[in-house]
Amino acid sequence: MCVVDPGDAEPVLALLESRQLVLDTLLITHHHADHTGGIKALLHRYPGAQVYGPAGSSIEGITRPLGDGDPLSLFGHDFTVLTVPGHTLDHIAYYSAHAGPGGSGVLFCGDTLFAAGCGRLFEGSPEVMHASLSRLAALPADTRVYCAHEYTLANLQFSLAVEPENEDTAQRLETDAKARQAGLPTLPSTIGLELRTNPFLRCHMEVIQRTVRERTGTGSSEVEVFAHLRQWKDTFTA
Ligand SMILES: [Zn+2]
Repeated sequence: MCVVDPGDAEPVLALLESRQLVLDTLLITHHHADHTGGIKALLHRYPGAQVYGPAGSSIEGITRPLGDGDPLSLFGHDFTVLTVPGHTLDHIAYYSAHAGPGGSGVLFCGDTLFAAGCGRLFEGSPEVMHASLSRLAALPADTRVYCAHEYTLANLQFSLAVEPENEDTAQRLETDAKARQAGLPTLPSTIGLELRTNPFLRCHMEVIQRTVRERTGTGSSEVEVFAHLRQWKDTFTA
């Protein structure tokens, strides 16, 4: 059994015990406490578990430090590590080309890419984060995106403010709002859906560039468009 980014040990321990499973693998994407706070207690209960995480990070308990391109095997599938700095400088993602349903790809991307959004820039520059998101955007369209927070509805409100005419975004908001009302997650997403509805992956689109030009009064490179969207989102309320 594997867990990704255990911010809190209690719900993981409860699930493992209710299903009589043994934890053998922890995958950590970056150093924030809401992704690492459960490591110590989980290792106390399952001392044989391996903890994968970014090399050179301050995270305590990592037994398998990882860098860009490092391979690992999980549930009989090959995974690769992608370094994706920006939210934090130590941020990594875990990608498998074939571990998902029907042989699709699987991505555990922590707080880098969210459904219809992206993480805040706590440590990296807009250039660095834009480059990291571009790496993820280039993965196959059917890749399942398992991000670390359920921020989808709030993110989609912002997406619609950026692109009021985007019908894919309006449709997604309707579908995902129904899912949340029914108590279901909106995740995983897919890279294809993100490319159609996530403004942070659409900085090259003329319609978004025009909106940003109107707001800032200046011409804009893709990175400048990204930087403005991130700033706008930081203070956005629906
Ligand atoms: Zn974080």
